[in-house]
Amino acid sequence: MVRIDRVLSGLPSDIVTTDQDIISGYTTDFRRQYHGSTFALLRPRTTEEVQQIVRACAAHRVGLVPQGGNTSYCTGATPSNNGDELVLSLERMTTPREIDAANLSVTVDAGMILSELQELAASADLMLPLVLGSQQSCRIGGNLSTNAGGVNVVRYGVARDLVLGLEVVLPDGSLYSELSPLRKNNAGYDVKQLFLGAEGTLGVITGVSLKLARKPRQIVTAFVAIRDISGLTSIFNQTQVETGEAILSFEYISGSSLQLILRTNSNLRHPLENSSEHYLLLEVATASPTLNLEDTVSAMLARFFENNLIIDATIAASESQRAELWYLRENIPEAEVLNGGSLKHDIAVRVSRLPAFIESATAIVKREADDAILSVYGHVGDGNVHFNVVPPPSSKKTGFKERFEREISPKIYDLAFKMGGTFSAEYGIGRVKLDLLRQYGATGKIELMRVLKEALDPLLIMNPGKVVPRR
Ligand SMILES: Cc1cc2nc3c(=O)[nH]c(=O)nc-3n(C[C@H](O)[C@H](O)[C@H](O)COP(=O)(O)OP(=O)(O)OC[C@H]3O[C@@H](n4cnc5c(N)ncnc54)[C@H](O)[C@@H]3O)c2cc1C
Repeated sequence: MVRIDRVLSGLPSDIVTTDQDIISGYTTDFRRQYHGSTFALLRPRTTEEVQQIVRACAAHRVGLVPQGGNTSYCTGATPSNNGDELVLSLERMTTPREIDAANLSVTVDAGMILSELQELAASADLMLPLVLGSQQSCRIGGNLSTNAGGVNVVRYGVARDLVLGLEVVLPDGSLYSELSPLRKNNAGYDVKQLFLGAEGTLGVITGVSLKLARKPRQIVTAFVAIRDISGLTSIFNQTQVETGEAILSFEYISGSSLQLILRTNSNLRHPLENSSEHYLLLEVATASPTLNLEDTVSAMLARFFENNLIIDATIAASESQRAELWYLRENIPEAEVLNGGSLKHDIAVRVSRLPAFIESATAIVKREADDAILSVYGHVGDGNVHFNVVPPPSSKKTGFKERFEREISPKIYDLAFKMGGTFSAEYGIGRVKLDLLRQYGATGKIELMRVLKEALDPLLIMNPGKVVPRR
């Protein structure tokens, strides 16, 4: 406490909040699984103020937890419950720095909310291809620190792939600044990569230059009932070929996830006449004003029918129909919460193995917990499936989840591992997946991560206890 007082006494008073009523909104993770505590919340307005905070924390060896929108799923943005760390929110650092439409790039403060950044790009008739269900509250610094995925990865890559330049306050308070939005820059190591996906353990991202893309002139959105999960890869590959790789999103929704969301709201309707156990929401887009994309997609779906790959399909006829289809996909996490919350398994395997993974993991759950409700959905064009499990309505939710996590989740992770996959496709490690990293991490990786962590942050003040397992 004395050390925290010393840190705070050297900071401008208007960036420090000690009111616990305000602070309580920053000390619990999004899923309300972990409740931390802190004596003070720090909300700097400039990079210089971030430097001042980090220098003071380093001088007095006080841990610092960077926070963006606090929407991440691995409790990475939540302080420990000892009250010995400070929370640094980027929420006041939201200023656009530069938009260069001819260079297809934008440079902003790292606290900008993702949807506001998308609007900024749209104002220049361009688009930021990073699109997530949490975009109304997550912040670009958090997106980069988690190397977020989202629904456009199949076309534009993960958050990391969109970064041209970065500005980071390092754990001793010094600045790494390489914000110029160059497409090519081989002047030395590409050190910015270190901070992308580091979950705030190596420094505080304060500014970023990002790639933008041409805004699509045509978008075709289709909701498709597929006959059998084994046809998934074939549909994906054929869609790539037939649309000339114009796929923007290729999202899977299981029949049980669709039922879950339809039950939450009586105004929602099933988009198709025929139901199935497996659906796809696919979107293709082009910036070309001349190509007839809708005809291409209609002809492709007709061929899928002829080849017995799908049993029903609809193409959104208007922007509002498109929004209705996306609502079904984007609100599955919320439907899970309304049904008692879910156990999340954020799995990725190679796309060619995804149908086999879904079939085998489903068989494990049917065998070991027949009454569990499966909510399986995700960005299958990237090989990423959220293999989530909702407790049955009659069960004691906490007891069910604890037993499942202890006895059945390891079998799902083992399966993914044996299929060459990962236990953390897009949500990161935070505090909750440290044991999984120990168990399934790549050979030599934890040792290498420790070398980097200790080199950059020898006092171990940056987001202590997250991502890098303790010795
Ligand atoms: C409904 C819903 C849908 C979602 N969909 C997706 C999805 O499709 N794909 C996906 O990948 N994720 C998804 N997420 C998870 C989450 O939104 C992402 O992980 C997002 O990128 C987190 O951003 P944030 O600003 O909320 O970060 P936070 O939760 O605030 O922080 C995340 C981590 O980054 C660190 N951090 C934050 N800001 C900085 C900074 N400026 N410098 C250094 N470290 C920092 C924190 O310490 C923490 O470790 C979803 C979440 C919800 C609730």
